[in-house]
Amino acid sequence: MRRLPRYHYVLEDNIGLVERLGSMGGDISVVMSARVSTYGDEDGMGTPEKNQKLIGFLMRNGHGTPFEHVVFQFRVKAPIFVAREWFRHRIGSFNEQSGRYMEYKPEFYFPSKKRIQDPDNRQSAIDSHVDIGPGSIFHDASADAYRAYQELLEKGFAREQARIVLPVNLYTSFWWTVNARSLMNFLELRNHPTAMSEIRAYAQAIEEEFMSVMPWTHAAWLDAGRKAP
Ligand SMILES: Cc1cc2nc3c(=O)[nH]c(=O)nc-3n(C[C@H](O)[C@H](O)[C@H](O)COP(=O)(O)OP(=O)(O)OC[C@H]3O[C@@H](n4cnc5c(N)ncnc54)[C@H](O)[C@@H]3O)c2cc1C
Repeated sequence: MRRLPRYHYVLEDNIGLVERLGSMGGDISVVMSARVSTYGDEDGMGTPEKNQKLIGFLMRNGHGTPFEHVVFQFRVKAPIFVAREWFRHRIGSFNEQSGRYMEYKPEFYFPSKKRIQDPDNRQSAIDSHVDIGPGSIFHDASADAYRAYQELLEKGFAREQARIVLPVNLYTSFWWTVNARSLMNFLELRNHPTAMSEIRAYAQAIEEEFMSVMPWTHAAWLDAGRKAP
């Protein structure tokens, strides 16, 4: 598969990735779409300083719609359990590979370190420094499941039926097209210490791309405490 320079391997296995396929607009689109309120069809372009200040004002005061005029398009390869969390973000468009149309490759995500349940927070975990090597229950369970999948296919079961034995650490691929406002909401929630570490790794790659396309908006969002407008 041809890769653009704007891609990031995300998890340690060099399978999971985020690739920015393209984007439309940038900081100036935010400024110009906001200024249509006061300039109509006249050119509302100000100085760089004024433009940057305006972005800060919009961000701080919850004027979110100008940020919706900038759109990002990503290709993502992620374990199904990460994709499931990602797909909860309804403001955006997704298309995912289909296990009905194509056979899954034996590509599974394996964590490298054990995490233990946080006794004070039911939704979070604490890192330990215990390695999870090859031959762990994770590896064995995935290998068993993939063997069962292949056996079902060999016995003539349809792909849509055979796939139901596969676990959620299997990799899937999808496209995500999202506007900058919704992207900031995604980053607020998913590049956050309380997010699951795997989706957070993806969110960090998304944030790098966001920062490179919209440096003023990114800076204003940081100043606003990483709160989406
Ligand atoms: C740490 C963490 C733990 C979570 N745990 C759980 C869990 O246990 N169970 C679970 O089911 N989910 C859980 N979620 C998912 C969470 O509830 C959201 O579904 C997900 O984060 C998407 O956020 P969102 O709705 O803001 O994003 P989007 O769906 O992209 O929506 C963006 C914004 O649009 C607006 N919006 C979108 N749809 C509507 C609507 N129908 N009505 C009104 N406003 C709308 C809201 O302002 C929303 O913030 C968790 C998320 C996080 C980050």
